[in-house]
Amino acid sequence: MAGAGLPRSAEYLIVGAGVHGLSTAWHLARDLRARGEAARVLVIDKTAVGAGASGIACGVVRNNYFQPAMSELMAACVEIWEDNAEDLSYQGAGYVALGPPAQEADLVEVFERQQRIGYRSELHVGEREVAEHMRSLFPDWRAPGLSVCLHEHQGGFAHNIESVRGLAAKARAEGVEIVEGVEVLGFERDESDAVTSVLTDAGAVAVEQVVVAVGPWIKRLWELLELPQRLDVCTPGGHVAPDQEMWTYWYLQEGEVAIDPALFATSGGAVPPVLHVDSHAPLHDDSGRLVTDEPWGVYFKRDREGIQEGSAPIPKGHEFAVDPYPGATVEEDFSHMWAAALSHCMQRFEGARRSFRDVRSGGVGAFTVDNFPIFDRMRPNVYVAADSNHGYKMVAVGREIARELCGEHSSLLYPFRYERFASGDLHPVSQSPYPWS
Ligand SMILES: Cc1cc2nc3c(=O)[nH]c(=O)nc-3n(C[C@H](O)[C@H](O)[C@H](O)COP(=O)(O)OP(=O)(O)OC[C@H]3O[C@@H](n4cnc5c(N)ncnc54)[C@H](O)[C@@H]3O)c2cc1C
Repeated sequence: MAGAGLPRSAEYLIVGAGVHGLSTAWHLARDLRARGEAARVLVIDKTAVGAGASGIACGVVRNNYFQPAMSELMAACVEIWEDNAEDLSYQGAGYVALGPPAQEADLVEVFERQQRIGYRSELHVGEREVAEHMRSLFPDWRAPGLSVCLHEHQGGFAHNIESVRGLAAKARAEGVEIVEGVEVLGFERDESDAVTSVLTDAGAVAVEQVVVAVGPWIKRLWELLELPQRLDVCTPGGHVAPDQEMWTYWYLQEGEVAIDPALFATSGGAVPPVLHVDSHAPLHDDSGRLVTDEPWGVYFKRDREGIQEGSAPIPKGHEFAVDPYPGATVEEDFSHMWAAALSHCMQRFEGARRSFRDVRSGGVGAFTVDNFPIFDRMRPNVYVAADSNHGYKMVAVGREIARELCGEHSSLLYPFRYERFASGDLHPVSQSPYPWS
């Protein structure tokens, strides 16, 4: 029976068995044990481990962020991936971001910061230099008009559901209980607003500390915690944007082509880095027909059975039915567009559209009002991890939340506090057309 055996109390109750809930549970149980503290760490999920965005994510692990706080946090995340590569099904193949002249300044800044923080990467600027670097990796590289290339030698990708199960195994090995099929329906709070009891469809659980890590379901849990759905946002210049919606949904379009993965290897025969291309060059399909002359962008990586790729997200607005997850579908000509993009980049992918596979892929994410995460204590004993859909790669967030729950301060999470909307201490915005760069 779903929810059978749900304990009636827990010192720490974590809602959501995705990357953040499980990473928090793993690190928290480990830290408590190291301190000699005996405490029950309980994770509950309304469906199952990896049922949300973490189990469907493309799995890209990168550091390429224009915002210093994101970049520093990602470096910490990559360390955890590297240290636990096998358990978390991680491939440290690297990541390459390619862009048109409009993105040069941003990527130069990202590169310079990476050098300062010791993140291994190289930069190529100028169309000829970029093409030469890409041809050294892929002799049939042919995408024109790209004048900047940031090649991160750390990062890469991981296999989504395997890595989430790997995190669950690590948590269980530290003594964490994970109960699936239990949905949180409400919270009981005392006069100080601290949550005393979490109400579920399998009964109430008395709690001391709660962590809410529910990915795209955050709007509902935010409501249950009676947190504001609209707010005034102060910009760094002191301007106030009044009465903004807290949450917006975007649908991330992804798909797969079934080709021999060995076809997509570097010239040295290695697993290729994840490639992310933003281009202003007109995009044609293999028959020469114009697909778009608007700026476009794609990312793609080798998968077990072919290539997985994503492209422009579709904005869905402030209301969206997240159940059943992942919800929504790709745009009608999505497979056309991204097969053309693959072939635009490398000759070996001519005809890739024929191998498009209609598999469960893509999904919706809930973005915050400034498109960056909120990692903060939103009630005296309730910590919320709302990653604004940045976060499969962010395995270090759970480690940092665990530190905060143990009474320490996390300088990595501090820039993501909720108070930034009132103080204007927002993150800088890049030239990228997407809300996650
Ligand atoms: C298509 C797609 C591709 C992506 N690709 C990448 C990528 O390549 N790299 C990257 O870094 N990020 C990527 N992301 C973003 C990333 O997947 C998410 O930011 C991250 O997985 C969120 O993790 P989470 O732990 O917060 O939530 P989730 O993984 O969504 O887990 C939340 C869990 O909470 C449970 N839950 C919800 N409500 C309740 C409730 N009331 N009671 C109990 N349980 C509940 C759900 O069942 C679910 O299992 C992608 C996202 C999408 C949609």
